[in-house]
Amino acid sequence: MLLFKQVLPFQKHISKLKKEGKKIGFVPTMGALHQGHVSLIRQSLKDTDCTVSSIFVNPTQFNDPSDLQKYPRTPEKDLAELLNTGNQVLFMPDVTEVYPPSKKLKLDLDFGYLDQPMEGAHRPGHFAGVAQVVKRLIEIVKPHYLYMGQKDFQQFTIIQHMLNELKSPVKLIVCPIIRESDGLAMSSRNVLLTPQQRSLAPAIHQALQDAKMKIHAQFPRQIEAEALSQLSAQGLQPEYFSIVEGRTLRPVELFEETDFAVACTAVKIGNVRLIDNMILKEE
Ligand code: AMP
Repeated sequence: MLLFKQVLPFQKHISKLKKEGKKIGFVPTMGALHQGHVSLIRQSLKDTDCTVSSIFVNPTQFNDPSDLQKYPRTPEKDLAELLNTGNQVLFMPDVTEVYPPSKKLKLDLDFGYLDQPMEGAHRPGHFAGVAQVVKRLIEIVKPHYLYMGQKDFQQFTIIQHMLNELKSPVKLIVCPIIRESDGLAMSSRNVLLTPQQRSLAPAIHQALQDAKMKIHAQFPRQIEAEALSQLSAQGLQPEYFSIVEGRTLRPVELFEETDFAVACTAVKIGNVRLIDNMILKEE
């Protein structure tokens, strides 16, 4: 595996591969890698000739400085995992490579309603930071394919919107959520849970599954209210549990009126904030 920390030699290598006609797949991550990340890399290895992963904890998407500070960082373990998976190129820049002071990188894109609800409402500025870093990284890498997880449902929806708006040739591939055996969605933040908090965490997946069971019998707002009380009763602090239309992210009023309904939730367990989602209906 080749490791690059600087933009110029990295770009030189990638453009050589592209001149040779190689298809490039790109997997952006913030490190502290787990099997969810590995699943994206495996998909890229299947689809393309060269898989490029990046590890960059992007400061501009953290609205809470203490969240940025305590974000898990495990570079040595990550390198071993990437080698083991067969990832070919790793880009691990520092902040000044990604955001050189000389470059104007502020992105003025209108996401319409997409960045208003859910994560947008609870993490002001988060998606502006995510879009900024993904735009910058794909300008550097210029991949054919970009791999992201369904785990961050609102994020990939916004990035697809951005790619459309920018008329970008990059094709976004969304990969399924990888879960622990008890249902907890894999996340870099899971290591921050104490054993007692970890034992509560599968309740998030349970609430999503229970919601899915109810779609033929109850209205979306009722299901949301029950999920919120169920999570609170189990000692978790849900921030939202929203049943939304999968393309517009607007609230679903009646399941009969949409062919794509998704339940998205953010839950705090102590100081650890976890997100998860489940497609309730897709035709
Ligand atoms: P992160 O390092 O958390 O920024 O995530 C990097 C990429 O991995 C994003 O596209 C995430 O959606 C994806 N990802 C994170 N967790 C999972 C998971 N459990 N299953 C599948 N993809 C995931």
